[in-house]
Amino acid sequence: MQLQLAEFHHFEAAGQPFLYLVPSGGIFALDSLSRQAIELMRQQPYEARELHSVLVAQGADSDAARECIEELVAARALAPEGGWKDAPDEAPAKFPLQTLVINLTNQCNLSCQYCYEFGEDKVATPEGKPKFMEFETAKQSVDFLFAESAGRKSVHITFFGGETLMNFPLLKQVVDYSREQAAQRGVSIDYSLTTNATLLRPEIIEYLTANAIGVTVSMDGPKEMNDQLRVFANGKGSYDVIVPKVRELLKQHNTRPIAARVTLTSGVTDVIRIFRHLKEEIGFHEVGFAPVTTSPNRLYAINEKGLDDVLAQFEQLAYEYRDYALRNELHGFSNVSDTLSELHQGISKSHPCGAGLGLLGVGPSGDISPCHRFVDSDTHALGHVSSGIDTAKQQEFLTKGHIHAKYDCHTCWARPVCAGGCYHEAFVRYGDTGHANLHYCDWIRGWTDLCLRIYGEIATHNPGFLNHFEQRKAA
Ligand code: SF4
Ligand code: SF4
Repeated sequence: MQLQLAEFHHFEAAGQPFLYLVPSGGIFALDSLSRQAIELMRQQPYEARELHSVLVAQGADSDAARECIEELVAARALAPEGGWKDAPDEAPAKFPLQTLVINLTNQCNLSCQYCYEFGEDKVATPEGKPKFMEFETAKQSVDFLFAESAGRKSVHITFFGGETLMNFPLLKQVVDYSREQAAQRGVSIDYSLTTNATLLRPEIIEYLTANAIGVTVSMDGPKEMNDQLRVFANGKGSYDVIVPKVRELLKQHNTRPIAARVTLTSGVTDVIRIFRHLKEEIGFHEVGFAPVTTSPNRLYAINEKGLDDVLAQFEQLAYEYRDYALRNELHGFSNVSDTLSELHQGISKSHPCGAGLGLLGVGPSGDISPCHRFVDSDTHALGHVSSGIDTAKQQEFLTKGHIHAKYDCHTCWARPVCAGGCYHEAFVRYGDTGHANLHYCDWIRGWTDLCLRIYGEIATHNPGFLNHFEQRKAA
């Protein structure tokens, strides 16, 4: 069998060489013999038999050399002539829905300037549509979820807004109705919500706790950072209003971890300080960061230098995460957990995320969208919960979003985890959900390489910690 080197990204961790195999998404630790085999293959292609003879001539045991070659082929580090086949070209014809994001309202009591729903780069066209979802539409949404998730043993509802808690009575009705429907079908269901925390009150916290509803709070750090853009309509910052409520939430809600989600903008890039504040001073269990999605000319957009600075701070926190992991402790920097989880599962994505596939959004009007960020956008609607999904539009969206349709990504080693990046970001930047997010390739590759090194160190020194990611997978 004629062999050739397959596509991989080489990295070192814990003093040992590793290969990240593309496109399979596998991670392979090289011992001295497999390293030798790879070095030989780098110089010229060999037949399997020839490679074996050369390794033996260089002093390797014959059985060990054979096993080594077999392992490298099985791991897809070495490929038969013509290489391994990539993921199939077509978007899957039918993929059972797992998560429905229900936007209970498109109204919000804050006026965060960077908001993708109300800000300058918004894609929503809410004019003439309901501001608050009716129970009838919510029921149809739940029925739609169960109809489209047929075959799944568990489904998930995420409540979203606007500000989600502005329609808390409907949230409770949806939980009651969907729980009843799930029980009738023998399916398990769980819930989460995202909120700006301004409307939290004791009875809401009690309800969220009793029903094990996961909570993510959008918050940008200490007062002087949070209040730069997370403001009420009169310009007043929201920090002083939300902090006592968040502290109460963290004190009472003990049935699910509570996360903070930070949007980084040009004036808010002090990642380490934000993390310390939210994790240690406020007490969130997890903190995740995302650079703002925006056109590059907005005042709050982060420039390239700012992104480099953010990545350097991410690196510091990621190494802290590693130190915690080696002591079997949870650190709480969720960007690392999310990427390690994908690496551990050997994910090789045909699409950047579940939008339009296993995840859909529903707006207050009942319009279906690829995810919560496209809710209320006429251009991106994929049907209505009363009539079902428009499969032609869904296919068009997924075909455009497939990694094979993104020419620039074809030779990129980070494509198993990136697959071109967020559709919403692509639309805001390039006016096309199917465009690769080429403005942040260096960032993605830098971040993926860093997480691979962290993964390699944990896999070498405390492999048991990686079981956390098995649990996340099962969840
Ligand atoms: S968007 Fe950039 S980083 Fe992502 S897969 Fe494509 S080329 Fe690679
Ligand atoms: S399109 Fe973007 S915002 Fe929507 S689910 Fe995917 S990654 Fe998230």
